Amino acid sequence: MNPRHHPSPDILAAYAAGTLAPGFGLVVGAHVETCAACRNQVAAYEAASGAALQTLPLEAVGGDALARVMSRIEAAPAYQPMQVDARPLLERLPLKPKRWVAPGVWVAAVDTPHADEDRVYLLSVAPGMPTARHEHSGAEFCTVLQGAFRDEVGVFRAGDFAAAENDLDHQPVVEGDEPCVCLFATEGRLKPKGVIGKLAFAFADV
Ligand SMILES: [Zn+2]
Repeated sequence: MNPRHHPSPDILAAYAAGTLAPGFGLVVGAHVETCAACRNQVAAYEAASGAALQTLPLEAVGGDALARVMSRIEAAPAYQPMQVDARPLLERLPLKPKRWVAPGVWVAAVDTPHADEDRVYLLSVAPGMPTARHEHSGAEFCTVLQGAFRDEVGVFRAGDFAAAENDLDHQPVVEGDEPCVCLFATEGRLKPKGVIGKLAFAFADV
């Protein structure tokens, strides 16, 4: 699989540094697992930050401080280059119960650490169904896990990553003949629009 839509360098750098909010890191990781190019980029960022640390003059940090810095680095979650578990991510994600919100459309919250104001969830939409149209007040990351959708940017297939900014209002359509399943992390309150969006986010508890 060769994804065609990738996280920006800024997002990858933050992912490598472990500074992305947990739910957002999960969505980036879903892409990185499937994308050799981004795995290499993440490894390069990690090597660069390690090299920068090693060139620090010792007298500038002192013995204890250096030890503290190093222990912090070692305690930071390291990127795991797969495959501890060979199952597809879709089967590994800890999901809360699926809620069918319309024929062919279900939503399931992902049981993963995230900030209270964020939402981390799977959305599955069958071909021919409208997607859950919504606006949001912050960033939204999405990685396609199965199937494909099309929007004004192009076609997003399994492994592809999409990041949206504030108040995006668009309605992608499912491409092909299998359901499109996407992993989302959304910052801030969802502002659902349209019948499907209102159903999905009002009743699915995500
Ligand atoms: Zn990539």
